[in-house]
Amino acid sequence: MTQATAYPASQTIHTIGILGGGQLGMMLAEAAMPLGYRCVFLEDSANCPASLYGEVYTTEQLEDFIAAADVFTLEFENTPLAPVEQLAQLSAQGHKQGMYPPPQALAVAQDRLEEKSLFNQLNIATVPFIAVSSQAELQQACDTLGLPLVLKTSRGGYDGKGQFVLKTLADVDQAWQELGGAVNGNGSLTSTPAPLIAEGFINFSREVSILAARAQDGSIRTYDLVENHHHEGILAKTQAPAVGTSHLLATAQTAISTLMTHLDYVGVMALELFVSKDTDGNDTVLANEIAPRVHNSGHWSIEGAVTSQFENHIRAVVGLPLGDTDNVHPSVMLNVLGQYPDVSAVLAIDGTHYHTYHKEERADRKIAHITLMPTDVAKLDDALAALVQTLPNKMGLDR
Ligand code: AMP
Repeated sequence: MTQATAYPASQTIHTIGILGGGQLGMMLAEAAMPLGYRCVFLEDSANCPASLYGEVYTTEQLEDFIAAADVFTLEFENTPLAPVEQLAQLSAQGHKQGMYPPPQALAVAQDRLEEKSLFNQLNIATVPFIAVSSQAELQQACDTLGLPLVLKTSRGGYDGKGQFVLKTLADVDQAWQELGGAVNGNGSLTSTPAPLIAEGFINFSREVSILAARAQDGSIRTYDLVENHHHEGILAKTQAPAVGTSHLLATAQTAISTLMTHLDYVGVMALELFVSKDTDGNDTVLANEIAPRVHNSGHWSIEGAVTSQFENHIRAVVGLPLGDTDNVHPSVMLNVLGQYPDVSAVLAIDGTHYHTYHKEERADRKIAHITLMPTDVAKLDDALAALVQTLPNKMGLDR
């Protein structure tokens, strides 16, 4: 079998349409260019990071955006489902060459209840959870799951927003008012309460994620497990690979491969997992959520893997064979939040790679990332400590 017959689509694709124009879209376009593809974007914010790399259409110009591209993908998890379904339908009718990932993957990722139910249906272990749609049900969930518990909106939350940790039964009122009630000034409900999910609070030892790419022929390549550190709900640091997790890799690989195959997924997906202890005291992984797109915890792969997550996503979307996902060098990725560092101080540290997103500074906004991979791995910890000192917002990494 020759590659030309196995992967015919790439011959006729020139332009990739990306729903969203943030830094993920920008880095996808950077990866697409050497392969011979240009990107256009659907994005309403002016001067978005991706605008340096291709034409940007507003959502009012959806039809022009569709006309401008041959195949489509997305970079933003809360992309409305309607245009994704429209693009999938146009592709099924032969007018376009694909919408990847498919709408069903986006729909699942946008709804925590659906997502965790699917995990369990596919025998992927999760934290215990219960759907909650009234204050009485929340009270009941506290009895069933025990305290503390984490109450989350099933839809629309990100970076830890839309969540409440209940420590005692006295928290039920406030948690319900903040997340469930949509309460008016006079105490009456304004609308049907948003669906909520109550999860048992997990005393996890580490947070890890696994990324994988799935091609149009169904082949899958997985990256190493990486360890993630958050600060106030936002990713601060990713270490790739996660040290001492080889005994968990096979379970994580099976979980993400099963999900991708079930969803007929094409492109890169991330699966976030908690490392916890099972009843026998052994390490185990519990699935928390998927991202149906390239992911912040995979940025290290631009320099740290044989083929980056961005290149593999593009390869999958245009129908090319996937590249090797091996880690070429232990790497640490730091997010730059809110304020830019002195770039010359960053680059004075051996083994740093700086990626700006060309955004205006604003508190808690991801505006750049830095990957650190010193040739001498023994110097990683010292180099990391020096690098953290260059960041205006140290995100708790100096402690
Ligand atoms: P999420 O939006 O689900 O990714 O949650 C944001 C962060 O909250 C996670 O990265 C965890 O640090 C923490 N978290 C979420 N769910 C739980 C849970 N069930 N138990 C303990 N911590 C959690």
